[in-house]
Amino acid sequence: MAFTACSPKIVNTKPPDPVKIDVIKAEPPKPVVFNPHAATDSIYTFKTDSLLAIVKQQQSAMLFDSTGVAAIPSEWIGSVNFGIRKANYVIIHFTGQDSIAQTIKTFTLKITEVSAHYVIGKDGKVFHLVNDYLRANHAGVGKWGSVTDMNSISLGIEIDNNGTEPYTDAQIKSLLYLLAQLKKTYNIPTANFIGHQDFAPRRKPDPGPLFPWKLLADNGFGYWSDPVLEPAPDNFDYKTALRLIGYDTSDINAAIIAFKRHFVQDDSTAQLSPLDLNVLYNVYQKYAP
Ligand SMILES: [Zn+2]
Repeated sequence: MAFTACSPKIVNTKPPDPVKIDVIKAEPPKPVVFNPHAATDSIYTFKTDSLLAIVKQQQSAMLFDSTGVAAIPSEWIGSVNFGIRKANYVIIHFTGQDSIAQTIKTFTLKITEVSAHYVIGKDGKVFHLVNDYLRANHAGVGKWGSVTDMNSISLGIEIDNNGTEPYTDAQIKSLLYLLAQLKKTYNIPTANFIGHQDFAPRRKPDPGPLFPWKLLADNGFGYWSDPVLEPAPDNFDYKTALRLIGYDTSDINAAIIAFKRHFVQDDSTAQLSPLDLNVLYNVYQKYAP
């Protein structure tokens, strides 16, 4: 058969290689996670960096006499043997606020100047806000024994509670787990788990008479009176006993009220009944043996 000009010309060639299509596995789109605390987290990081700069400073002692003239020559020589200071107390607080969200807001606003290492929500969720090795602003002005700068040697735990409601089982359960971990990690003595009211009886009512101190003591955090009480001696010096436990007795009424809110819990008057005195006598022997 003859081919015309427009007839297809049959050329016996190899069929073209199939076009390779690279299959690109598309990554599923990453969900955009909005972190409402990103701004304050970055302030936290900036602050820790600036604190590290202070730690790195090599500074010789500056010893001046009373006239302000350096009296003793001094020199920096770095020792090779040191570590980081650890907390030796735990201070328990209630937030006195209506929600965990309100408290987190309070602790992430610079203007409030307050914070705590931990906050425990009503559902038992534990929020960690300040590294345990850093100084949170939770205890403020007060005195316990001879300790006045409690913030420098303590961890502050705030419990979401408005001050008039019972603590939830979930938050107490989480608190006990947290305390066990802190006690072990930092080797905190049993006696050194106290309330904000104990440290600052003139200023603070927390964690208040609804806080389960007996349960804490049963688990090795703080002390509680024995079930059978020996009567306090007739000449029992309750003021000295309170002072030796740790209370600031410069305002004795405030000290008694704080003691009762912690160890008696059924009334918050400044009077010590015979039973209260027996409790005090018993507790005093644990704190000041
Ligand atoms: Zn407090």
